[in-house]
Amino acid sequence: MEATSDILAQYQHLELSGNLDLLADLRRENRELEKIITDAALLVSYTDLSTMLDYVIAKILDHFVPQFLAFLVHPPRGDKIREYCYRNLKETDEQIAPMYYELFRRRFERNPVSATFAELSEELGPDLFDQNFLKIMPELVFPMFGIGGLYGIVILGSKIVGSSYTELEQKYVDRIIRFLSVAMQNGLHYESSITDPKTGLFTHDFFMRRLEEAVSSVKRKRQEAGILMFDVDHFKRFNDTWGHITGDAVLIALAETLKRESRGEDCVARFGGEEFSVLVLDCNGEGLMIAAERIRRAVEDMVLVAGEDRLSVTVSIGARIIDPELSMNATKLIEDADKALYRSKMNGRNRSTLFVKGLLDRAKSLQQ
Ligand code: GH3
Ligand code: MG
Ligand code: MG
Repeated sequence: MEATSDILAQYQHLELSGNLDLLADLRRENRELEKIITDAALLVSYTDLSTMLDYVIAKILDHFVPQFLAFLVHPPRGDKIREYCYRNLKETDEQIAPMYYELFRRRFERNPVSATFAELSEELGPDLFDQNFLKIMPELVFPMFGIGGLYGIVILGSKIVGSSYTELEQKYVDRIIRFLSVAMQNGLHYESSITDPKTGLFTHDFFMRRLEEAVSSVKRKRQEAGILMFDVDHFKRFNDTWGHITGDAVLIALAETLKRESRGEDCVARFGGEEFSVLVLDCNGEGLMIAAERIRRAVEDMVLVAGEDRLSVTVSIGARIIDPELSMNATKLIEDADKALYRSKMNGRNRSTLFVKGLLDRAKSLQQ
């Protein structure tokens, strides 16, 4: 009896002192931290930036919905700021002027702590922010730090419903952004390692990896695929006439055409120099040649304006089907596509040739 009343008294004491509430809060925060560590482990395992952002968006959605959310990042290559903007957590085309990235970047390099927009506006001068910027109703701004320092900022607009962000909500976003910063920088570096700096297309190495995967997948699914090899016609002459800079502009325009004329899941690569390759998934010989001709014509129609001149180039194409009966590696398939390409060159350039097994003399050449 004595003991029971003693425990009761202790309990009442704990309750009155507020220690029980404190304990409940600590437990809640502990659960929250455990959850964020699990979430972060998954986040840093992604290589693709849009998958990371989708994941973070889904996590934020568990807590609240901001009217506007913007990630402004400076990729390791080039000067252009990349923006990922969301209105009500749905992707939007609305953009933030890059000067704001500069403005916040300089502030966070001086002082690396996230802040409310009200504080920043006071600190930097409210006149710097125009109506276009203010219409996103910015409330919190966070820096993104990675190896080498600051490379991005996140702007969080006010909530759709409810008042300002609570301290706990701010802490949550701050933590998830710290993890996202590491993951995104990894992703950006990975992206640079598999793309060619001049054209932004995939590299030769990455293409070969994707091709090996396609060879296995064709066998497993018993569904054909194909490769197209492109070589610009008389490109040496083009460079000699118009100069290398104009030559580079042609390669960049060509890369855009190749990407535009290919499906999103196909792998478009700069194989080397003025040679390009496309891995066309799920297609038969006929489909592969249709794709080849579509691209060839699109290149033929390309016009590059250089001063008074309107310049154009053509490409020769070699095509090779990857069929489930073949026991061939990626290198051998490329060799075959090259043979077909050589045939296109020999037959007058600006045409597509499909490699026919063992009977290259009967290779089907197309040109309109
Ligand atoms: P063919 O129709 O037989 O393919 O003739 P070609 O002149 O295109 O063939 P060749 O292989 O002799 O020349 C390829 C040219 O591509 C030579 C090289 O200077 C140019 N080239 C390769 N990479 C680049 C590049 O990055 N920029 C520019 N401007 N030119 C490049
Ligand atoms: Mg060449
Ligand atoms: Mg060439």
